[in-house]
Formats: sequence, C-alpha cells, structure tokens
Amino acid sequence: MTGEKNYDVIIIGGSYAGLSGAMALGRSLRKVLIIDGGEPCNRQTPHSHNFITHDGNTPKAIAMQAKEQVLKYDTVTFLQGIAVSASKNEKGFDIKTAAGDTFTARKLLFATGIKDKMPPIEGFAACWGITAIHCPYCHGYEVRHEKTGIISNGDIGYEFCKLINNWTKDLTLFTNGKSTLTPEQTEKLRQHNIPVIETEITAFEHTNGYLNQVLFKDGSTMSLKAVYSKLPFEQHCDIPVKLGCALNEQGYITVDNMYKTTVPGVFAAGDNTVQMRSVSLAIGSGGFAGAVINKELVDESF
Ligand SMILES: Cc1cc2nc3c(=O)[nH]c(=O)nc-3n(C[C@H](O)[C@H](O)[C@H](O)COP(=O)(O)OP(=O)(O)OC[C@H]3O[C@@H](n4cnc5c(N)ncnc54)[C@H](O)[C@@H]3O)c2cc1C
Repeated sequence: MTGEKNYDVIIIGGSYAGLSGAMALGRSLRKVLIIDGGEPCNRQTPHSHNFITHDGNTPKAIAMQAKEQVLKYDTVTFLQGIAVSASKNEKGFDIKTAAGDTFTARKLLFATGIKDKMPPIEGFAACWGITAIHCPYCHGYEVRHEKTGIISNGDIGYEFCKLINNWTKDLTLFTNGKSTLTPEQTEKLRQHNIPVIETEITAFEHTNGYLNQVLFKDGSTMSLKAVYSKLPFEQHCDIPVKLGCALNEQGYITVDNMYKTTVPGVFAAGDNTVQMRSVSLAIGSGGFAGAVINKELVDESF
C-alpha cells in the first residue's frame, strides 16, 4: 500500500508493458505509481515462448522477475488494485481506484492490455492459451506437425491456413457455419490438402486444457492436438476512452510513434495499442513510452 498520493506518472496496468515503462521512468528518478489488477491476457498459458532469455518460462515467472527488478527502485510504488476512473486537473490527472483512493499525476501511461472474448463453444475457454492458440510464433513450434484445426472463415481464414501450413501439413479449416471462402481460395486449400468443414463446433473435449477432440452439432467428432483461433476483443480498461482517447477502427488505442494518445499527457503501450501481441513487443513499447514521458516532463520543467 502507499500513503503517498501525488506522483509524476501513474501507470495503469503492471504487466509487461507497464513494468517496462516503470523501469525506464523509475531509473529517470520519476516518482511512479503502478496500479495493477493482476489479470494479464496470457495468464492461462503454461509456457511463454519467443522471448529470448525467458523462452519456455511461465508468464507469471517472467512478470514476477520483472516486478522484483522494477521495485528495487525506490522511485517506483506498486499498488495491487483496479483504477476505475480518471479526470483532468490543473496540473495533470486524478485517478480513482475501486478501493476508493485518489492519486494524482502529471502524466498517465495506460498499459492495460485487451480482453479476448471467448466463443460460445463449451470447453474452449479452458483450452485458451494451452491448446487453443492465438499465435504460431508463440506456440506453433510446440504443436508442429500435429493434427491441427483453424477456426476462421473468409479471407482471414484463408490467410491463416497459408500461415499455419508452415508449421503443420495436417490442417483442417473449420468455418463454423457456411464458408465465405472464394472458389479460388477453396480450390487452393484443396490443392494443399486442407479440408474445409462447415459443420458448427459445439464443444472442446479436453483434459485440463489439453484438447482431445472437437464435437460438432451433427454429433460427429474429430481428434485434434491444437486449434488456432483469432478472437474478437475489447479494451481491458475503458478509462482511456472515457478520458477522450480515440480508438482506431480495429479497436486499439490510437497512438503516434511516440506512444502519445490523442489526449495530451496520456500515453498507451502494449497490447491495447497494436495487433501484433508479444511479451517482447509489450516490453519494448513500454520502455520506449517511459523514455518519451520522461522527456516530456524534462521539456516542461527545464
Ligand atoms: C493466451 C495467450 C498466450 C500468449 N502467449 C505468448 C507467448 O508465448 N509469447 C509471447 O511473447 N506472447 C504471448 N502472448 C502475448 C502476450 O501475452 C501479450 O502481448 C502481453 O501480455 C501484453 O502485455 P501488456 O502488458 O500489454 O498487457 P497484459 O499482459 O494483458 O497486462 C495488462 C495488465 O493491465 C491490468 N489492467 C487492465 N485494466 C486495469 C485497470 N483498470 N486497473 C488496473 N489494472 C488494469 C490487467 O489486470 C493486467 O495485469 C500470449 C497472449 C495470449 C492471449
């Protein structure tokens, strides 16, 4: 807990992007408060991959080590909790938490991530991040050459098949309803021995998130090791929008190449701003945003 109420910067979201921003700012002698709800999007994944020095570690272990290193700086304070609202004041911003505290800061960094919306398929959510996969760069190697499905349709489904065909040739596309592929796309998939199944999936039968088989509406089943799916999402935190930050048409917070949102003094970094999701990119963007925020504070006070 913290008795201090006034900070240079408040970072909302204390996962990879937020902790990285805090590292840059804390080392710049800025008084930083991180407020974190403790629900990163990859929390169910047993092993995180494709980030050198941490390949194969649990997401939690990576975050815990980051937190330990960041909190060695006495300039940084960590508060476990939820930020519920923000408002402008004459010097910067007030942030209110669910516990009823109010903190002030000159600058805000939102590193709040996104929330994946689970499809109405029984068992899917339990497999998410384990054998229901969002990204081949994170988990494709672990299920290489395995019998794999893709739940998608149309142009996105076609492109997804092309991509995943790099990791396994034993691939089936589930359009989960009528196919919207063009005849040319359907023919190309046929040439690559990728069947297209339109029958709706009703359930994933699994053991602790490890998929055994998918169940279809017509009662049929298919054994699979893994299924890729791109899920719809929403911003994990609605405060940036309520503050006036614009979202782009895909639903990400609009930032320039300095991680500035459309509201002066408000920055965003990590998954909430970009389609390409990875721990390393979140860390890179958080660190960059931290340096930009420090520079803005320097420019304002020199
Ligand atoms: C299932 C899955 C598996 C993945 N596997 C890999 C992998 O193997 N390798 C890899 O490199 N990447 C992987 N990723 C991508 C990676 O997890 C993300 O890119 C990364 O977590 C983004 O970091 P972030 O800090 O932007 O957001 P997150 O890690 O999602 O953290 C956001 C944080 O903000 C907090 N927060 C949100 N709103 C509030 C609020 N109002 N108040 C306080 N706190 C708030 C949340 O509680 C959370 O702690 C995976 C993603 C998913 C979904």
